[in-house]
Amino acid sequence: MADPITFSGSPLDRVSVERRDATWIETLRAAEATRFLPLFRLDPLVKLGDARALAWATNALFDGLDPAPPMVLLGMDGEVAHFAVDVSAIEDPMEAFGLKDAAAFEDLRAIAGQLTPGETSIAAQARSLVDWHARHPFCAVCGGKTVVEMAGAHRRCIECAAEHFPRTDPVAIAVIVRGDRCLLGRSPGWPAAMFSALAGFIEQGETLEEAVRREIYEESRIRVGKVRYLTSQPWPFPSSLMIGCIGEATTEEIEIDAAEIEEARWFHRDEVREALAGETSKLIVPPPFAVAHHLIRAWVEEGR
Ligand SMILES: [Zn+2]
Repeated sequence: MADPITFSGSPLDRVSVERRDATWIETLRAAEATRFLPLFRLDPLVKLGDARALAWATNALFDGLDPAPPMVLLGMDGEVAHFAVDVSAIEDPMEAFGLKDAAAFEDLRAIAGQLTPGETSIAAQARSLVDWHARHPFCAVCGGKTVVEMAGAHRRCIECAAEHFPRTDPVAIAVIVRGDRCLLGRSPGWPAAMFSALAGFIEQGETLEEAVRREIYEESRIRVGKVRYLTSQPWPFPSSLMIGCIGEATTEEIEIDAAEIEEARWFHRDEVREALAGETSKLIVPPPFAVAHHLIRAWVEEGR
């Protein structure tokens, strides 16, 4: 697991305790050194050029905007505060901010591979958080209006005082193995020959291991015994945590659920090794950008 997991490894300190101080937050928002990452319809502003980089603005960019765009504190890099700003209410932010060809709002999924690992994590936090706030202007308990507290760490209803916290949805993703073979599947619409680890949302009242066994059985009718956790990945589309496992199959006969996947097959470790090395066109596995790649690679390397 040498390569960093995309969307993890933020250099920012989230200042969970200090952010309770609203006066301090206001000081940070007004400080010249403070950095703001604008997001338009969840796409972060990035610098164009040979490689993409997050395009941080100063508060001068938002001068005169009425109402002020919603902001959440991502964290501190030393003494410098970093906020995410939702500029989706501005009709043409490129025009409004006088941005030229050097920067653009771009889809995070498309550009994550070009950002540094730390930047992918900051952008993931910004995207998930801005999305959650935009979707929760009203209280799920009473329908009242909610307001931001603790610089974006949660919202509170002004009618019934209920607190609402940004959610992260856990997803179990697993490479299922049996001896020298592993079970991979493909979804409709994927590039030809692309197969990956099977995955599904963890449901209420089940463990990670139980979720893996249920999902794999639902999608392939393969029974899974021992399940071990390997690594995880934040997945900000909109707000999941992919929890990566390796599971041991106890059966071999595949019967797919066509409503969920298009195909599932057993692949020999040698075939998968070739696919990782890009030496075959018969099997394509996900790129290092995805946690499935790390799971598949870890299993192949265990067999050396
Ligand atoms: Zn309420």
